[in-house]
Amino acid sequence: MSKRIEVEVAEAFGRTFVKGNIPEINPVRCLACRHCVNLCQKLGPNVLDIVDGVAKVVRPENCIGDGACMMACPTKAIFLMSRYDPASPPAAI
Ligand code: SF4
Repeated sequence: MSKRIEVEVAEAFGRTFVKGNIPEINPVRCLACRHCVNLCQKLGPNVLDIVDGVAKVVRPENCIGDGACMMACPTKAIFLMSRYDPASPPAAI
């Protein structure tokens, strides 16, 4: 049985992305190198920042779900994108 969900999309870089997902960041693997933070800031969404020595999602509402942060991370600390639920955010937030 299929499931139908309503989605919000974002147009960026000549492509269409499904909004609502945010990166899950493994704090053990994070080096606080800022590659993901700087790339996301340069691209525009500016979702991430370094907090207490690790990358964290600080502006989840800005995330367009393009996954650029995953590609920027040298340690694969960002491996998954998951649905953002303000009532139950991932532990990494
Ligand atoms: S790119 Fe990876 S290792 Fe660097 S700050 Fe971001 S999550 Fe941490």
